[in-house]
Amino acid sequence: MRREVTAGLGLAALVFLGLQGLHQLLPVLVLAAILGMVFLMAQGRLAGGRPFALQASGGQGGMPPIGFEAIGGQEVAKRELMEALDFLRRSDEAAALGIRPLKGILLAGPPGTGKTLMARAAASYTQSVFLAASGSQFVEMYAGVGAQRIRQLFSQAKKQAKKEGRASAIIFIDELEVLGGKRGRHTSHLEYDQTLNELLVQMDGITPSEEVQVLVIGATNRPDLLDPALLRPGRFDRTVRVDLPDKEGRRHILAIHAQGKPLAADVDLDELARETYGFSGAHLESLLNEGAILAMRQGAREISARHLREAVDKVLLGEKLDRRPRETERRRVAYHEMGHALVSELGRPGSVSVVTLSPRGRALGYMRQTPEDDPYLYTKEELEHQIDVCLGGAAAEELVFASRSTGAVGDFEQAVDLALRMILAGMSSLGIVSRELVPDELLHQESHRILKRREARVRALLAEHREALEAAAQELLQEEKLSGDRIRQLLQAAPQPASR
Ligand code: ATP
Repeated sequence: MRREVTAGLGLAALVFLGLQGLHQLLPVLVLAAILGMVFLMAQGRLAGGRPFALQASGGQGGMPPIGFEAIGGQEVAKRELMEALDFLRRSDEAAALGIRPLKGILLAGPPGTGKTLMARAAASYTQSVFLAASGSQFVEMYAGVGAQRIRQLFSQAKKQAKKEGRASAIIFIDELEVLGGKRGRHTSHLEYDQTLNELLVQMDGITPSEEVQVLVIGATNRPDLLDPALLRPGRFDRTVRVDLPDKEGRRHILAIHAQGKPLAADVDLDELARETYGFSGAHLESLLNEGAILAMRQGAREISARHLREAVDKVLLGEKLDRRPRETERRRVAYHEMGHALVSELGRPGSVSVVTLSPRGRALGYMRQTPEDDPYLYTKEELEHQIDVCLGGAAAEELVFASRSTGAVGDFEQAVDLALRMILAGMSSLGIVSRELVPDELLHQESHRILKRREARVRALLAEHREALEAAAQELLQEEKLSGDRIRQLLQAAPQPASR
């Protein structure tokens, strides 16, 4: 209404001024345009005012509804979330017992683990309207716009629920840390603080007597960055961890996304789950999709194990590059990767899955290990072994070419991280130390000492197995890919070093 009156007055003023003469009209037009833009910004229509995403219900447009059965693994997270949602499903009973409504649930975990899927399934489970937004949609240069958009989000959710005759609405805010970061940390902190304050005000305004019950589900992969006021009881007072899936979880997710895809008889999803340690649900979905794309490109009717193996590499490292490295580089990379592989195999037999020599993404080659099982804890010996594997690449280069290359930078970073982990777990000569109290200099000296010792050991190990290293690197240069089994054969066939 206010908008129509303003527009009418504006038009009347323009006609009046138009009668006064055109030369006087120009500055007025410019002023009117500026005022109009300010008005729209205040309304949140400009500057990133993307509409909030709705989940379809009853055959409307938007995202299709999904259920918890479409989410693989995450059994604990699903159970915890469903338990929390039961308060919303049985809101009458909860109200009779005087239980205050649940206002916010926080889903915390790494990207691509299914947090958005969980929130969408929560909406289906509770028959709620679902409205999704992302923290970055509230970040504006202009003070007050973010807060205005928060108000819009809540009122749109309630309106939509009334329109569809539903008793509840779920508002999903992804990247919650962007708008809910600790107050006073941003340079333009006034605007951030206003937005966060508005979210808190809206959440505090949720009462059992409302016609539409609103539940806010936030998702973040950095819960440590959130303002403590958000996590206070009565706001996001339940946190559900949504972690990377374990082997069983990966198997389940693969099975879900394999539906509708013709898999050849040689595909073993158990093995694929074992080979994909560290993959998120999004990686696994992409893996099956890439496998299908490869099959199509090769004119195959079914997706075979070969396509999926190639797809694992692609998801991990990116598209194959056409540019072929120089021959000297290829030779260096072949020895480097075989250095990693032999150290891995000698320390933990059966641990190498495959070694590849083909440029992909930013890597010229790589060695992939199969973890025995998803570990929760590491012993000192296991961490030392991992350090050895990291150092094996550069050690092999030194042994064969008497020099190192920049290809080992990433390996060294990983080795230093592992050494620091050992120190902080009380596994070094420093004994038990506190991260806060121990000086950086001392940490540096101790990690240097650990790495020096491991480096000497790795060099000696590779020198002892020099024949196997040569044979495997030569074969890799020819074949471009060696399986773990082939490397084990070559190790066995090579003359065994005199016992140490
Ligand atoms: P982000 O933190 O990056 O927003 P997210 O945790 O919200 O990620 P989703 O958007 O839910 O992740 O997942 C992305 C896609 O990955 C999904 O559409 C789905 O295809 C797949 N996916 C992720 N996790 C699972 C899972 N547990 N089960 C089945 N599919 C999954």
